[in-house]
Amino acid sequence: MSSNRPLKLVWIYPDLLSTYGDQGNTIVLERRAALRGIPTETVHMRSDEPVPTDGDIYLLGGGEDRPQILAAQRLRNDGGLRVAAEGGAVIFGVCAGFQILGHEFGGEEGQLVPGLGLLDIRSFRGEQRAVGEVVGDVATELNVPRITGFENHQGATQIGPNARPLARVVAGIGNGGGDGTEGAYAGRILGTYMHGPALVRNPGLADLLLRWAVGAELQPIDDSWAGRLREERLNAVLTSG
Ligand code: GLN
Repeated sequence: MSSNRPLKLVWIYPDLLSTYGDQGNTIVLERRAALRGIPTETVHMRSDEPVPTDGDIYLLGGGEDRPQILAAQRLRNDGGLRVAAEGGAVIFGVCAGFQILGHEFGGEEGQLVPGLGLLDIRSFRGEQRAVGEVVGDVATELNVPRITGFENHQGATQIGPNARPLARVVAGIGNGGGDGTEGAYAGRILGTYMHGPALVRNPGLADLLLRWAVGAELQPIDDSWAGRLREERLNAVLTSG
């Protein structure tokens, strides 16, 4: 990010990838940047528009199978997100958006659909749909407190050697690939199955993306409410059996 212009947030494909209020993630980034005196500019790019390559943070939300396939095709043809990734942009994908960042994912009939290959993950149609609350302990090096969210996906994801798990599952399914992990990241590209929206429920995750984008530590903000929500959801999940 250059210091003389606002931090540019790019919401990818509101017409295809916006289930479960995932666009709320952009609002949280705007707000938490503003609290640190960092100006932002947010653009919403529909799937018939070219993806700008000068964004600082790109966000992709969840989607039903067919819109997800269309989004993957259009993003591959467009090529803008790859250019942005190669330039060091931060990319955050949720559920369908997470799967699209990987090499491939399962379509509505289980057919394998090519993704963008920006993150070393492979997704496929799982045997059971994962629906409910998910809680995870984040990789220590990311310095983010325990995360919670809502998951609803048929796909399962396996992480390759060039990516790392975002979290270890404490409750819920997460990636569902048999290794007890949730989400994945490599460099500044990060994905998760957590809706909620994820950054609303997990301000620590929002701050991680902002830290990556500005390349500096951020002033702390009192987030005790988020800790209370996390504990409440965890208790609800663990006591519901
Ligand atoms: N269609 C994908 C799946 O079922 C993603 C769903 C979602 O984004 N919630 O795995």
